[in-house]
Amino acid sequence: MKMDVVRISNLVKKYSNITVLNNINLTLNEGEIIGFIGPSGSGKTTLVKSIIGMEKVDNGGIELLGKKIPNLKVLNDIGYMAQSDALYEELTGKENLEFFCKLYRLSKNQIKSRIEYTSKLVNLENELSKKVSNYSGGMKRRLSLAISLIQDPKLLILDEPTVGIDPKLRFSIWEELKSLKADGKTIILTTHVIDEAEKCDKLVLIREGNIIATGSVDELKQQFKVNTVEEIFL
Ligand code: ADP
Repeated sequence: MKMDVVRISNLVKKYSNITVLNNINLTLNEGEIIGFIGPSGSGKTTLVKSIIGMEKVDNGGIELLGKKIPNLKVLNDIGYMAQSDALYEELTGKENLEFFCKLYRLSKNQIKSRIEYTSKLVNLENELSKKVSNYSGGMKRRLSLAISLIQDPKLLILDEPTVGIDPKLRFSIWEELKSLKADGKTIILTTHVIDEAEKCDKLVLIREGNIIATGSVDELKQQFKVNTVEEIFL
């Protein structure tokens, strides 16, 4: 039986007096790629941050991998890539990756193999000795993605992962996300890109802090009586 990787019940999040997430209930299964879609300002990032415990919520409960969060141990099993890159600009790409390896207490051998694997995945293996301050925006995005995968997490949460990444690399990253999924990993991502939404097993439609629908692309097309994913977005 598939495990519930994410279980959210009655989640409410406010900033001052403004309700940004309004009684969210959501259960996500393992081994799926789930896309959070919705207009800018609808609450996608806030939901993602609440899930990983970066935002204190006003009501409700969140369980990840069967454990109530906040829980430091669970964080080891979660890879997170924020919308803005949190990198050490004065360090090289490799030193950034090493820093996170040490944070997760990987062994020397693991450090070597995980840096090799993740940097190759994002096509940065030949740029690792450069300082991040000399990286382009796209390279920084790619390094952030490598970092989110560094400890081989079970659950990967990516906020707009392919912004600023060219189509060719975007394609290869998607191929890799699919193979991570085939390994049983669960991937949550937020996106504005229609062809990315189409690749998700499940979509969660968010409007003004509410989940208005969840389901596969085909289920949502039926539910909204439309023929294209574009129309789901509208
Ligand atoms: P999305 O990711 O869908 O673009 P966000 O989750 O970033 O949406 O934002 C949802 C709403 O919460 C927006 O109205 C935004 O202005 C507001 N918001 C986000 N972060 C903060 C914050 N730190 N303080 C106050 N309001 C915020």
